[in-house]
Amino acid sequence: MTVSTALLVYLVVVAGLFGLVIGSFLNVVVYRVPAGIPLTRESRCPHCDTAVRWWQNVPVVSWIVLRGKCANCSAPISPRYPLVEAFTGFAFAGIAWWVLATDVSSHVVSSTSMSATVVVLVAFLYFAAISIALTLIDLDTHRLPNAIVLPSYLVAIVLFTIACLLGADWWALGRAGIGMAALYAFYFLLRLVQPRAMGGGDVKLAGVVGLYLGWLGWSTLIVGAFAAFLLGGVFGIILLATRKAGRRTAIPFGPWMIAGAWTGIFAGEIVGRLYGGLYVS
Ligand SMILES: [Zn+2]
Repeated sequence: MTVSTALLVYLVVVAGLFGLVIGSFLNVVVYRVPAGIPLTRESRCPHCDTAVRWWQNVPVVSWIVLRGKCANCSAPISPRYPLVEAFTGFAFAGIAWWVLATDVSSHVVSSTSMSATVVVLVAFLYFAAISIALTLIDLDTHRLPNAIVLPSYLVAIVLFTIACLLGADWWALGRAGIGMAALYAFYFLLRLVQPRAMGGGDVKLAGVVGLYLGWLGWSTLIVGAFAAFLLGGVFGIILLATRKAGRRTAIPFGPWMIAGAWTGIFAGEIVGRLYGGLYVS
């Protein structure tokens, strides 16, 4: 998929601005979903309960203007909010550039229509959004809420199916299905033999990760799945070595599954090519 440079820059900037707004929404999701608070309720200062005005809710800018304090009671507002917004903005811009401008994903969307490419882009922006939300929620609460994980199966399958109807490779959808089943089964077995090491939420998330990795290719699936254990293992060894954690400390695995998945998404094809012939796409 190739687009003109001007259009590419425009789309990447639009994706980045869209990411800032989604990042603001993800802050709400991360705080409210584990607590069971409806997403539709208006935002209030948790300290003085004053409603947040629209101009106090502009991503990143408001936090800087308010100097990280509530306009009413001066209670500090965590810098995590603008950081999540900025990170989501950069992530969305980066993914738009990756899908639209690089040939890394071209084996799936190259010869297809612009509309199929945009649908694939939306699917990966969605995965980026739940990646950020689930990472923070798992770190905060050691949970991966069904309310986010389970609908993600439907979102990914529907978007990939639409992309195929618009001209993307149907075999990519078949591979996504196989990736979903394979990674779910793998984590299910791990939980069966090591119930302490793996949560039920990890097993359910594994199917979603398998869908995305499988869509891109076998090497992406293998690298993404393997990278989760490599990254998680290295981090665990560092924690044990620096005695920040004991052998029984529960370390959430969700963030490593997600970090591994994105390693596979961005590097899977390259690693596959380095091992040329070892994997078939
Ligand atoms: Zn306040």
